[in-house]
Amino acid sequence: MPKQHSPHAVIIGAGFTGCALAYDLAQRGFAVTVLERGEIASGTSGRTHGLLHSGARYCTEDQEAARECIQENRILRKIAAQCIEFNGGLFVALDDSDLSYAPKFAAGAQACDIEIEELTTAQALQLEPNLNPQVRMAYRVPDGAFDPLRLALAFAASARQLGAEFKPYHEVTGFILDGQGAVTGLNVTDRHARQAYQQPADIVINATGAWAGHLAAMIGLTVPVTPAPGVMVAYNRRLIQRVINRLNAPGDGDILIPQRRMVVIGTTSFKVQDADYIPVFPEQVEEMHRKAMELIPAVAQTAERGAYMSARPLIGTAEDERSLTRTFKCYDHAQGGQVERLVTITGGKATTCRAMAEKTADLVCQKLGISAACQTADQPLASYRLYYSA
Ligand SMILES: Cc1cc2nc3c(=O)[nH]c(=O)nc-3n(C[C@H](O)[C@H](O)[C@H](O)COP(=O)(O)OP(=O)(O)OC[C@H]3O[C@@H](n4cnc5c(N)ncnc54)[C@H](O)[C@@H]3O)c2cc1C
Repeated sequence: MPKQHSPHAVIIGAGFTGCALAYDLAQRGFAVTVLERGEIASGTSGRTHGLLHSGARYCTEDQEAARECIQENRILRKIAAQCIEFNGGLFVALDDSDLSYAPKFAAGAQACDIEIEELTTAQALQLEPNLNPQVRMAYRVPDGAFDPLRLALAFAASARQLGAEFKPYHEVTGFILDGQGAVTGLNVTDRHARQAYQQPADIVINATGAWAGHLAAMIGLTVPVTPAPGVMVAYNRRLIQRVINRLNAPGDGDILIPQRRMVVIGTTSFKVQDADYIPVFPEQVEEMHRKAMELIPAVAQTAERGAYMSARPLIGTAEDERSLTRTFKCYDHAQGGQVERLVTITGGKATTCRAMAEKTADLVCQKLGISAACQTADQPLASYRLYYSA
């Protein structure tokens, strides 16, 4: 149960962002309740590629996101080591277009403070014998791979140890306002008990990722978030030990990640109206297969394990969703005299979820006149196993 006499923050959504925020706010002395319409990480977070970004993927086109990624990569290595494979990554050039991108890449990495090291092609092939033997250039980068469910559960377990309450299968259906236009609670449906009830709150945080616009619209607000899905294809053999990236501007099928005994290629990027219904198009699966074989030819002899998808919450509404930044944004809906005691956090990456939580908790504290510093960057998270027993 929430702590007595502490301000009560109610978070909607238990993906990486909601779980990391629950931990941060609980550490700052809030009573925290998290309402999630499915299971923990049942939205985008449970179906992510699992790349602990070094930021190198974004260092030429999206440097703000690249800097956020490398900073948080370093922090997550310290606090979430239990969820991470510290395997590093390579950026490899296969053709002239890749080679001509290399100087821009090296300059971008330096500008964003990402340590890269140029390898000879022989070194790259020694590290990754299944790499395309036509490789013409390679850089080593500090990428990693994380286990998505464990990462979400580790933040949630840490939050629970501090008294936060998680309510999976509790769906928010509306907002309750007082006469001054401030949110005082939420209308919720308990999907297990099939019962509707009202959840009071001192402040509400909408951490619903690709659904953030949908939640905001319930109360007549606009949050410019574009749900941009991507398809990933998993293969049944661990053909690589490191993350393999194509040395070129971000595009479809340019990252292969080893996950347990598999390798996963991703991703595509397109737009949908409804993040609840994302088709997996056969032509996108075929495209991923082709791109995977370019980097790792042995994929051709490897059985497909499955194809899956989820929707990125991207900030903005551009025609070309690939051009939208991977950074995040926190919205105080009191601005412009709209709605008090409601904050939305969306955008970002799994890799930056702790920083997203920190910025949001700073805003929440500022709104409620509470001075409590963020402490989530130093202490290791509780074991993910404790979520179910804590
Ligand atoms: C294809 C793809 C690959 C990616 N790969 C990577 C990667 O390799 N590395 C990386 O760092 N990032 C990656 N990302 C980005 C990362 O996965 C997302 O940024 C992150 O998962 C978003 O987390 P979130 O908590 O904000 O949203 P979500 O995980 O979607 O959480 C929002 C939650 O809100 C819940 N919700 C919605 N409506 C309601 C309601 N009415 N009531 C209650 N709950 C509600 C949903 O069920 C959901 O669980 C990838 C994204 C995609 C799409």
